[in-house]
Amino acid sequence: MGKGRRTALLEDLIEKAGGCAVVDGGFATQLEIHGASINDPLWSALCLIKDPDLIKKVHIEYLEAGADILVTSSYQATIPGFLSKGLSIVDGERLLEKSVKLARDARDKFWESMEKIPEHSYNRALVAASIGSYGAYLADGSEYSGCYGPDVGLDKLKDFHRRRLQVLVEAGPDLLAFETIPNKLEAQACIELLDEEDVPIPSWICFSSVDGEHAPSGESFKECLDIINKSDKVNVVGINCAPPHFIESLICKFKKLTEKAIVIYPNSGEVWDGRAKRWLPSKCFDDDKFEQFATRWRDSGAKLIGGCCRTTPSTIRRISKALKQNS
Ligand SMILES: [Zn+2]
Repeated sequence: MGKGRRTALLEDLIEKAGGCAVVDGGFATQLEIHGASINDPLWSALCLIKDPDLIKKVHIEYLEAGADILVTSSYQATIPGFLSKGLSIVDGERLLEKSVKLARDARDKFWESMEKIPEHSYNRALVAASIGSYGAYLADGSEYSGCYGPDVGLDKLKDFHRRRLQVLVEAGPDLLAFETIPNKLEAQACIELLDEEDVPIPSWICFSSVDGEHAPSGESFKECLDIINKSDKVNVVGINCAPPHFIESLICKFKKLTEKAIVIYPNSGEVWDGRAKRWLPSKCFDDDKFEQFATRWRDSGAKLIGGCCRTTPSTIRRISKALKQNS
């Protein structure tokens, strides 16, 4: 499939979905609901080793809920992370491939069953290979501070991302999803890599935000998006894992800063207490609120809407319902 055709897959999906497509929800959250224990630096990637069937099951649950895009379980799956668990490089690479295969298999299985049903309301979903930020690999919260320290430069970030990106692209996802990028430097690294590796599929780059105004590093989104706007390899930009009450104003801000499509998938607004390793409820959105806000986010200009941490298939079902009813 040529590059133009591959880029068109995403545009077609957004169009078929009525102008705004649905991304899935929190992955680790749903694994935990099913009893998986993932309190580990590898987080949901641990499940790739221990319980791949559960990963597939969660993908199917999100498809049933109406997700048009599945994000793979590779967010915190990295080769150095797997090496630190005593796996070989080859085993680590196989697990990365597996994260894409599990999502593709779930998508194909679900779509095959849907095609037999006349007039169903689903779209054939796309698979986005998740590429978590360097901070997500460090598992020290730096994806929300943007502080990688003076020793982490552009080349180090590119080296960190390169092999995983190559393996994921080889495994055949429909797009790449860079997630919780906390600073300008890492956005630059992602863009240079996409060029150097001549990645033939579309990408989105998502930033986190802890103040609703800036990237976590304190850099302005203008600085970050100016870099991304120069790349034709990135089709979509946006925000993930930020509290939902920031989202509307961030969409409006992004609309002024870029012509690229905008994706948002906020967390539920609960606050992660890194020391106690638990979620603290604060300005939290329940599923009713997600349903209510989904159309506002779309009307503000988002083309892709889903959920991040602490959202579940029931959240996605409500978002999907709201967007379909009011499209
Ligand atoms: Zn999240």
